[in-house]
Amino acid sequence: MTPGQRLRQIANVLNGSTLLGLLLAACARTSVSPGPHGLLIASRYRWRLPLAGAFTVGNVVLFRTGPEVARSNPVLLCHEERHSTQYAWCLGLPFLPLYFIAAAWSLWRTGNPASANIFERHAGLQAGGYPDPQVTTGGTGPTAPERNEA
Ligand SMILES: [Zn+2]
Repeated sequence: MTPGQRLRQIANVLNGSTLLGLLLAACARTSVSPGPHGLLIASRYRWRLPLAGAFTVGNVVLFRTGPEVARSNPVLLCHEERHSTQYAWCLGLPFLPLYFIAAAWSLWRTGNPASANIFERHAGLQAGGYPDPQVTTGGTGPTAPERNEA
């Protein structure tokens, strides 16, 4: 673990976000195991929300799959690790309302809660499995007025 990863781990313990992630993991009856870079992997999450294959609370990454599948997707794990770092920068739980504001902004601007969400863009849209309008425009630009947003 690098000093930065250790610092993130300590920050997310002190700011309570990792504790919230562990509480959620326990309430959802997931199995938690150590992951890379100070992360904790909570696998077989089965609650309906959020509508995502994986999400992060503090240093806890919750996956709908089993731990083997979760560990075999380093691209998605790296995306979720960046969210863990965002929790630390936001001093923990303030990340959640800030994230939802960014998601609402993105939904309003693009019709998708991730495409213009600053947190998802910083974590890597494609790594998180989200569409990136700047990549899929086909060269006409994302603000072309005749573009169909379907
Ligand atoms: Zn994400």
